[in-house]
Amino acid sequence: NRKLATRTESLTPSTTLAITAKAKAMKKDGIDVIGLGAGEPDFNTPENIIEAAYKSMEEGKTKYTPSGGLPELKQAIINKMQRDHGLTYSPSEVIVGVGAKHVLYTLFQVILDPGDEVVIPIPYWVSYPEQVKLAGGKPVFIEGTVDTDFKVSAQQLRSAITDRTKAFILNSPSNPSGMIYTEEELKELASVCKEADIWIISDEIYEKLLYGGATHTSVAQLSGDAKERTIVINGVSKSHSMTGWRIGYACGDERVIKPMTDLASHSTSNPATPSQYAAIEAYEGPQDAVEMMRKDFGERLEAVYPLLAEVPGFRLLKPQGAFYLLPDVTEAVRKTGFGNTDEFAKALLEEANVAVIPGSGFGAPDTIRLSYATELGLFKEAVRRIREFVEKRW
Ligand code: PLP
Repeated sequence: NRKLATRTESLTPSTTLAITAKAKAMKKDGIDVIGLGAGEPDFNTPENIIEAAYKSMEEGKTKYTPSGGLPELKQAIINKMQRDHGLTYSPSEVIVGVGAKHVLYTLFQVILDPGDEVVIPIPYWVSYPEQVKLAGGKPVFIEGTVDTDFKVSAQQLRSAITDRTKAFILNSPSNPSGMIYTEEELKELASVCKEADIWIISDEIYEKLLYGGATHTSVAQLSGDAKERTIVINGVSKSHSMTGWRIGYACGDERVIKPMTDLASHSTSNPATPSQYAAIEAYEGPQDAVEMMRKDFGERLEAVYPLLAEVPGFRLLKPQGAFYLLPDVTEAVRKTGFGNTDEFAKALLEEANVAVIPGSGFGAPDTIRLSYATELGLFKEAVRRIREFVEKRW
């Protein structure tokens, strides 16, 4: 019989990709849409990285590699973890996969039994709950709001933990809020995880995109215990503008990395070989492009933050990292007569031709997410349109 698997029933497409696709389709129809939905840097991959991939292919390095990644790439990642965080990992504690997204997918598959719980702070990256559910697990949410800087407390985490809790997900700097946990906050959260003896999954994909003097500490750096229970997730997508190359990795306990590697050997095999050579250059080559992109995003943030903060009915924190703004638009939605933020975002796209991501996909339905990985002039024009849209209906 041709009935689909039950697990497909609750599966929803990524809201980020859905809005971006709709905006692209409108553009194709000749409509002047400004897309602020993008979850990727708008720079090309640095030239030295492209050249390294090209050279590897010319040298015939186009075959399978070990499923968990090339030894040379694992070593480059080990060097990076030492350099950036003072953390020592061995090759058996590292797996390279097809983007951080798929590495996370594989991780949930190996740590969760049906009914196991994972505590996820709101607002969250869209794929965490879906991936937990696909592994048979149950997402348990704790909520950060604009009033708590979109962060959660140790107390909230403690209250959410049950005897089925397996892991807590940390994403700092956060997509979508751009907020960063301080070392003190991380220590408190890590101590709750130690009490409950659960895994910490630390998604650090935005660690290089920091503004206004903000710094990033990996929770794994805090103590021997924190290192042992943390699986660090990272990759080259955001730091080196390499979203399409699909290279991400996890560093952590060999007990987890080994089954992840075995699972990869039956699902993806290795991530694309030329991409792995590119990633070696990303980590071992010059880092000036990383800093150039960070500075550029920082300048854009300075330019656009005040403009967006002035839109009536928008409550906005100044992000410390990543490249997103997450205004709470409760008042704007109410005053413009919409029933909810999804309808507000839909009308914004159809009438003002600005594509933003409604926060319902992040568990924060009072917010919208705008990406400033967008050309500055376009972003300014988008904010002008948003403002006009709101004021017209106010
Ligand atoms: N984690 C977060 C918080 C993200 O925003 C993204 C990308 O949007 C990823 C992970 C996945 O990155 P990739 O699969 O490109 O390595």
